[in-house]
Amino acid sequence: MHEFTREHALELDARDPLAPLRTRFVDDDPELIYLDGNSLGRLPVRTAERLQRVVRHEWGGGLVRSWADWIDLPTRVGDRIGRELLGAAPGQVAVSDSTTVNLYKLAAAALDARPERRVVVTDDDNFPTDRYVLEGLAARHGLELRFVHSDVDTGLSLDALASALGPDVALVSLSHVAYRSGALLDMRAVNELVRGSGALMLWDLCHSAGSAPIELGATGADLAVGCTYKYLCGGPGAPAFLYVRRELQSELRQPIWGWFGQREQFAMGPGYAPEEGISRFLAGTPAVPAIVAVEEGVGLLAEAGVHELRAKGVALTEYLIALADEWLRPLGFTLASPRNPAARGSHVTLRHPDAWRISQALLARGKVVPDYRTPERLRLGPAPLTTSYTQVWDGLNRLRRIVETDVHEEFSAETARVT
Ligand SMILES: *Cc1c(COP(=O)(O)O)cnc(C)c1O
Repeated sequence: MHEFTREHALELDARDPLAPLRTRFVDDDPELIYLDGNSLGRLPVRTAERLQRVVRHEWGGGLVRSWADWIDLPTRVGDRIGRELLGAAPGQVAVSDSTTVNLYKLAAAALDARPERRVVVTDDDNFPTDRYVLEGLAARHGLELRFVHSDVDTGLSLDALASALGPDVALVSLSHVAYRSGALLDMRAVNELVRGSGALMLWDLCHSAGSAPIELGATGADLAVGCTYKYLCGGPGAPAFLYVRRELQSELRQPIWGWFGQREQFAMGPGYAPEEGISRFLAGTPAVPAIVAVEEGVGLLAEAGVHELRAKGVALTEYLIALADEWLRPLGFTLASPRNPAARGSHVTLRHPDAWRISQALLARGKVVPDYRTPERLRLGPAPLTTSYTQVWDGLNRLRRIVETDVHEEFSAETARVT
């Protein structure tokens, strides 16, 4: 059937309005099929050039004088992320630290603001760092950490969440898109539910920022954090962002009282008196080259437009699932993501009992980069900005050939340290 031919993939690429943007990324090996842009985004050509300038001229030549331009980077780039990707008005987003540290800062601030409530709610399939940070805070403050059960393939149901809420809950923290299955939560419905219970809501946007439209302002979100090295293409270890709704900013105090959160920072005053605005959630000196790289990545996403990115993300994942149904289901694969595109982010997970060895064979023999996730799951993330339909076709074609010919059986069943 025509739908499953490579010609059809080429036709889809010819009609793809985002296709020209692929040339703006470093791609040294056209044979390589990268289906892990949701773990580490590709390097934009312009980022490499900008970093060279920042390092050589701003640092090398300008030295400490360049701080006049650098000092506002966390809020300047934060505002840009807010405007282009998060539906957040200026003054509510800053770039700083890692997602893990920002989760800690905002969760601690939220708990301090609801001292009479003794419960923190999250789901049992939330990303590990989120669960650990909340576990640590609960232990430190003598609170109960309440886990709502979430299905590893279809995500959290609103009914399950509703049944965990009550007058004792201070904070709810959830991922917008589940890291394993790609299940996408309805942000507006969750915000309403949590607000109705009197708790504060903290979102982790790591797998949705840059791939799904987010309306923090219009849906009444309280707090959010997210990565910049996934869909935002900021580079390995690029600093994260945090969002605090304007009305909450003066009420909340984060636990790290650093000088970048201080009012009149360079007055070097005797005691801590935090800024009024979003800057109070900063701590120490920002990682200048890394934030500059984030700015370039966000610029490219903005050029594409978040609605175009979402449309392509849906089309690519629908295409991937159609090919998987046709070619891979007979080989023992099952879909481990929501089938409804409205309930799914931009990655697709497939389950197979030999997923680990298959992922090894794909990398070594197929030149396809997937992601392995426990248990028995192959996660495929065709980032909308940098992946073509033909790459999805080629990637799945190589995958079916490997499994059909049992190539994966030559690989060890023992898992590696980094998966
Ligand atoms: C990738 C990811 C993180 C990573 O946090 P770091 O502090 O950058 O290591 C956190 N949460 C989710 C949901 C993620 O997908």
